[in-house]
Amino acid sequence: AHLDRIADVDPAVHAFLHVDGEDTLAQARAVDARRAAGEDLPELAGVPIAVKDVVVTRGTPTTAGSRILEGWLPPYDATLVTRLREAGLPMLGKTNMDEFAMGSSTEHSGYGPTRNPWDLDRIPGGSGGGSAAALAAFEAPLAIGTDTGGSIRQPAAVTGTVGVKPTYGSVSRYGLVALASSLDQAGPCTRTVLDAALLHEVIGGHDPLDSTSLPEPAVGYADAARQGLSGDLTGVRIGVVRELGGSGDAQGYQREVSAAFERSVAALTAAGAEVVEVSCPSFEAALAAYYLILPAEASSNLAKFDGMRFGLRVEPAEGPVTAERVMAATRGAGFGSEVKRRIILGTYALSAGYYDAYYGSAQKVRTLIQRDFTAAFEAADVLVSPTAPTTAFRLGEKLSDPLAMYLNDVATIPANLAGVPGISVPNGLDDAGLPIGLQILAPARADARLYRVGAAAE
Ligand code: GLN
Repeated sequence: AHLDRIADVDPAVHAFLHVDGEDTLAQARAVDARRAAGEDLPELAGVPIAVKDVVVTRGTPTTAGSRILEGWLPPYDATLVTRLREAGLPMLGKTNMDEFAMGSSTEHSGYGPTRNPWDLDRIPGGSGGGSAAALAAFEAPLAIGTDTGGSIRQPAAVTGTVGVKPTYGSVSRYGLVALASSLDQAGPCTRTVLDAALLHEVIGGHDPLDSTSLPEPAVGYADAARQGLSGDLTGVRIGVVRELGGSGDAQGYQREVSAAFERSVAALTAAGAEVVEVSCPSFEAALAAYYLILPAEASSNLAKFDGMRFGLRVEPAEGPVTAERVMAATRGAGFGSEVKRRIILGTYALSAGYYDAYYGSAQKVRTLIQRDFTAAFEAADVLVSPTAPTTAFRLGEKLSDPLAMYLNDVATIPANLAGVPGISVPNGLDDAGLPIGLQILAPARADARLYRVGAAAE
């Protein structure tokens, strides 16, 4: 049914970069056989899933949205893909994304944009717009995303779906095409909070192949979601972050987004939660710090795309064919403009003479943001904010203005800089009928709280 749906609507939505229906059906039949043989499979066994194309899949094309990886067939599976296979979730295909996960609209994909199923003239968010659109268009019931600065949560917000960025280290990064390794985290994209919790339990937990993987198993999330579904939040302290659109006269937040946020705070109070206001002054500098740290790490991670090891290889049009000239020609042809912009920014920020002023300062801001979170989580069990300052904007609206595009991440970035988990849940519609998201943040390793409060709020 999902393959039929993809055939019907994906020509218009373009959520997928790669679908192999025969392969999906073969995987589904194998799950049936395992079940028939009496194997005890998890609850999600047999439910098909779409996977963001930044996650490597053995023998299945993986491009990370970039022309430079066109034609590359990974020789191995990411750990999270291995876990999906073991748990019996057939893969529907690979989803579209901004090139190397750089962007907030999926317009920076090397393979053309994805469109928002709620309004095909609008963006589905980014960088994981393909996964979110696939859910919103009912092409897939579950999907995988990655969130380095909001790429799971912001697409969820603007497509009326659920997206979770787990605690840094909760889901293995082994087999993700790295964007910024100290920020990257894979997580569930779903239509309900309980689905996200069940999926997190499948993909999460310790992995010896990722040196930053946390030691504890991923358990208790579905129980927390079921507890939240009772709607009772008695005893839960919820912090409204003044700097994340919680100040009443929040700058840059669309009027309906602020109004929906106020309504959800009232609803959480009615559910028994105690609402307090918290202030995280360093969050004001989060965007600036992120857009130094991310390009710095990305410029280093992208150095391996040299025209020799993976995918595309372009030889110079004239002159000698040296390694350096092949590298330059390949990177010139294979990378899009946003990727080039960030490589230039990142190498500049890391240069001798500028390192302390830019990268060093940004790392200090990162520490201040972590301290703000620590203080806020003394006053509150979870923090809440709008997920994104606006609902889905029109294709092309911010494409020529990188700063305007970056500003859409203002509320999601602090969590990545601190490594704390966050969820976006649907929170009503704006006057144009477009979805709004509510963000909930919890302390590191307290992901279960997201599922409890998220399920109560959804
Ligand atoms: N919009 C953010 C960026 O462009 C999102 C990155 C991400 O989470 N992958 O960097």
